[in-house]
Amino acid sequence: MIWKVVKTQLGEMHNRQVYDVVDGVVNNICQKNDLDTASVHVFVSSSYEVNAFATVGGHLIVNRGLLRDCRNESELAGVLSHEIAHIQLHHLSSTFQIDLALTAISIMLSNGSKSDFLTHMLYQFVHNTIVRDKETEADDQAVRYLRKAGYNPKDMANFMRRMQSSGMLEFISDHPDSQKRAGMIEKKVAHSKIQNQNILSDYTWEKMKKEVQ
Ligand SMILES: [Zn+2]
Repeated sequence: MIWKVVKTQLGEMHNRQVYDVVDGVVNNICQKNDLDTASVHVFVSSSYEVNAFATVGGHLIVNRGLLRDCRNESELAGVLSHEIAHIQLHHLSSTFQIDLALTAISIMLSNGSKSDFLTHMLYQFVHNTIVRDKETEADDQAVRYLRKAGYNPKDMANFMRRMQSSGMLEFISDHPDSQKRAGMIEKKVAHSKIQNQNILSDYTWEKMKKEVQ
């Protein structure tokens, strides 16, 4: 029910070529990692904001803007792996419950005193700590997914760094500390030689890129 409302708000990009590319990469990651492909539901949004996120119910939302800025299949696979990890690790329902609990605490606290600012700061602090924790966990899992699927995780790090330096902050604002995270990913794979085993032809990739311009 909630998803139906969210879906309408987001606005879908109805385009077969674009869906084929995103679904193809998601299925490839899932199959090579023995994950149920039916547990991930791809939704391509027509928004030009550079963002991708997962939400309750296994919905993986990818914006047109993010597809426009991905340089190759493995960069896209990096972003998708991170979001699949959030779904598989059940981060979404627990994050939602933590948010509810924190909201209840801050309401209780603010009833006693007038320091809304302090309760807000406390809320932000606890929330950010928890979220950051989950980001690292999702990154670690994503690196494992990528390796098994035959993608070089360094491309995921490259994408993060580029997003940060170009000032395209949407992806970063949901996913803090991108420079640090990129560094951690690079460190993990520093001594391994991983060749990308892309599943899409250059033609299919380029065709998708034209559609999302
Ligand atoms: Zn994340």
